[in-house]
Amino acid sequence: MRKRSNMIVYKFGGASVKDADAVKNVAKILGEAQDEHVLLVQSAMGKMTNHLEEIWRAWIVGEPTDDLLNEFRSFHHAIAESLGIPAELLIPVDELINELGETLQGDPGQNTALSYDRVVPFGELVGTRLVAAYLEHQELPIEWLDVRNVIVTDSSHRSANVDWERSKQNADVVAAHYEEGVRKFVLTQGFIGKSNVGNTSTLGREGSDYTGAILAFLTNARSLTIWKDVPGMLNADPKWFNNTVEVKALSFREAIELSYYGASVIHPKTIKPLQNKEIPLYVKSFVNTDHPGTTIAAGTEVKHYVPMYIFKPDQVLISISPRDFSFIVEANLRDIFEALTSSGISVNLMQNSAISFSVCVDRDEQKFERFRELMQMNYQIRYNESVELLTIRHYDEKTVDQLTDGKEVLLQQKSRHTLRMVLRQNG
Ligand code: ASP
Ligand code: MG
Repeated sequence: MRKRSNMIVYKFGGASVKDADAVKNVAKILGEAQDEHVLLVQSAMGKMTNHLEEIWRAWIVGEPTDDLLNEFRSFHHAIAESLGIPAELLIPVDELINELGETLQGDPGQNTALSYDRVVPFGELVGTRLVAAYLEHQELPIEWLDVRNVIVTDSSHRSANVDWERSKQNADVVAAHYEEGVRKFVLTQGFIGKSNVGNTSTLGREGSDYTGAILAFLTNARSLTIWKDVPGMLNADPKWFNNTVEVKALSFREAIELSYYGASVIHPKTIKPLQNKEIPLYVKSFVNTDHPGTTIAAGTEVKHYVPMYIFKPDQVLISISPRDFSFIVEANLRDIFEALTSSGISVNLMQNSAISFSVCVDRDEQKFERFRELMQMNYQIRYNESVELLTIRHYDEKTVDQLTDGKEVLLQQKSRHTLRMVLRQNG
């Protein structure tokens, strides 16, 4: 067992800080924390990331951004006002918003991913400054940390990859905030990092869970808790399924499998760094903090899992066959994957037969068009639209029958624990 620091990491997503009451609730959760050292990772407040994406879109096409920027400012000001935060504590908030304003006066340049990362991170930066100001006003022992001084990434803007070696060297930056025997909270940003050449980068939408895991890894934390507006992980998305049940415990391995198949409760990259150091992950409700939630940890090898369902609607099944009627061989697969990669299509499921290769993917006309252009010379491409992809971990025949009732199974893959089906509504 590795040496654990006496630190825990809490991650608060946008919904958990969406308004003044939510921010008060964060303070309440912190007040209840028994732990000496807490590292808080926070996302942009409410839907501010979407809003900043709108600002960025306007900026890159040369449309006015003033009104959108004012909305961004008033959203934060309104919350600060209901929280009664004194003006002097809000100086950093306003400085950041002004900095965003100045950025928008400048030229966005040609690299749209880079310009995205010059705008969208302000959600996390401003939001954490605001919450830190409130916690300070509440006289909690809080310090604000710029996560860009810790997490180093490459320059793949909008979906940057962590440079683990360089980030590890910065673990001391976090440790320097804490002192043995002194209760302390440090609040930092999810989702963002600093590229190897010093620009702000982002880890991809919903990336704050991942930040929580990265920081837990770097600091050898005792645990990571992701505070959510659901009671914990469920065995299926209640949007699509009735009678869902809570999953109390999961092994790391099981959690990785589930997120690979597209379960959306936690960001898929979150589990691996935790698994590597066996740092337990708790998914808990910020509404009902007494509720146990879900624990993902080593040694949680559950014997009898309930079936878990991952449903992806709005899928397209693409079948690709060589025009010369030849078999699908290695060289064809290379062509197909090159074309998929350069059209930015990610594959949810694939299967091959002698004369065709099929992939199930999210619907996206633009990407399909590009794919078609690249392929049509040598391949015939057929689309089966309006299909669904259903994955069942720990399936049983009874539920499979129920779920496929009235549907045509276009394709099926079965292994010992996992059943995957591409389905089409009959008629
Ligand atoms: N604020 C970012 C987003 O909305 C990151 C996150 O919430 O995890 O995608
Ligand atoms: Mg968010």
